[in-house]
Amino acid sequence: MHGRRAPGHAHPPAGRSARAVSTPFDFVVIGGGPAGLAAAVQARQLGLTVTLIDEQPEPGGQIYRAVERAEAEGRAAALGEEYRHGLALARAFRDCGATYLASHQAWQVERDGRVFATDGTASRLIEGHRVLVAVGAIERPVPIPGWTLPGVMTVGAAQILHKSIGLLPDAGVWIAGSGPLTLHFAAEIVAAGGRVAGILDTARASIPGTALAHLGGVLRGWRYLAKGLGYLAQLRMADIRRVTGVEAVEAAGDSRLERVRWRVGSQWNEAPASGLLLHEGVIPNTQVTLALGCAHDWDPVQQCFRPRADAFGATDVEAIIVAGDCGGIGGARVAECRGRLAALGAAAALGRITPEDRDRRAEPVRRELEGHDAIRGFLDALYSPAPELLAPSDDVVACRCEGVTAGRIREAVSLGCLGPNQVKSFTRCGMGPCQGRMCGPTVTGVIAAALGVLPQEVGTFRIRPPLKPLRLGELAALADEERAA
Ligand SMILES: Cc1cc2nc3c(=O)[nH]c(=O)nc-3n(C[C@H](O)[C@H](O)[C@H](O)COP(=O)(O)OP(=O)(O)OC[C@H]3O[C@@H](n4cnc5c(N)ncnc54)[C@H](O)[C@@H]3O)c2cc1C
Repeated sequence: MHGRRAPGHAHPPAGRSARAVSTPFDFVVIGGGPAGLAAAVQARQLGLTVTLIDEQPEPGGQIYRAVERAEAEGRAAALGEEYRHGLALARAFRDCGATYLASHQAWQVERDGRVFATDGTASRLIEGHRVLVAVGAIERPVPIPGWTLPGVMTVGAAQILHKSIGLLPDAGVWIAGSGPLTLHFAAEIVAAGGRVAGILDTARASIPGTALAHLGGVLRGWRYLAKGLGYLAQLRMADIRRVTGVEAVEAAGDSRLERVRWRVGSQWNEAPASGLLLHEGVIPNTQVTLALGCAHDWDPVQQCFRPRADAFGATDVEAIIVAGDCGGIGGARVAECRGRLAALGAAAALGRITPEDRDRRAEPVRRELEGHDAIRGFLDALYSPAPELLAPSDDVVACRCEGVTAGRIREAVSLGCLGPNQVKSFTRCGMGPCQGRMCGPTVTGVIAAALGVLPQEVGTFRIRPPLKPLRLGELAALADEERAA
């Protein structure tokens, strides 16, 4: 299970003994995106034994998803230079000598460094002296009227289909939302020879004063700005319609999406739609660190919870480290730097390098990180989510799994529920297959707005394993292997 595995053959052999991976490793990494891959490579360079667990079949994470396969199939160039940067990272990881558990989902992490993962048929236990949680971001939920209709999905989901199997949306599909990914994805579609019906841009029509305060960062991060302007030029050249200043979007149809409606000022407009792709930025995936009981803070700028961590990603739980977007949204290059810092921190904590050596090696990484992070304040202010996204109106479904509306959450609050866990008991909100991953931020937002307090005071759902649905057979296999051992 070491590197150099050919793309497409990354799955571990079925039926392999659990003992093959049950020796405690110095460093167990959960997540094969830029943060996890960079951390694994750095840790191996420092002589640590490393296992990387990732639910995808190939290294790359969200941004570099299927990069090796796309390159082999000749599709990578159309996905851009930034995407191809992931190729070098994936290759360095393949060569680094880490044990690689591809297509494995970590469904439980213990505070002592034990990780339970499944490949979909059987679970196994992997033990680590330090565990790096590098599970990335999730898209912020976009609860608008009609968002549960078939035909409505997120931009991220559509991008997964494009990167993994080259699927393009048809020309009747609209993109609605804000944030760099909406423009990036539309440009990606155009570059691949596709078209969309148009973009409904919900970013503020003029640059807010809070963003202007970050102009210094914009100058330092001019490459990112130039990339954004490049997307706009590409879309103009392809004659893709872009409506700016959109303040509200609705999906309409009887049993599936038929029309999209949007409001600019007081004017409502409507157009036929075969699909609607929503996106309002990304937030840290905190399911693992919340389940572990790590301390979390509310980030008032990014409007999300993030685990409390030091400069090397160490949390308040000794064995647990975080890196990448799950520790706070910074983008791929920042995630890569944070991964390397996390590995340095782990090596020092395990006594493999001295704190002085750690700091010396960290210095250039920190400088690189600051360069990539410089534009973040500007982007966060420019794309800060509208209040009605965080706390939608009464008739909008908040919990898709259980069909619970924002109105029912407010009703529960009026009956005395003060937090998400009480609301869960009253309404079943968060009890479905996604275990509150999708509705959690909305539930917190609705309660905070109803009570007139900060989300930090409301808190989040209590997360319990399994982190994602698991079949009983997968659990039973673990017991069998324990007996065999
Ligand atoms: C849907 C989506 C699309 C994006 N597209 C772009 C883009 O096109 N361009 C761009 O610049 N940025 C994009 N971003 C942001 C970008 O993904 C991040 O900035 C960057 O990838 C962060 O790297 P990371 O290593 O922290 O996490 P990721 O790259 O997200 O990697 C995390 C990895 O952990 C895996 N994982 C999660 N949970 C588990 C688990 N329990 N067990 C095992 N594995 C697990 C995930 O499958 C993933 O492979 C996107 C984000 C999202 C959510």
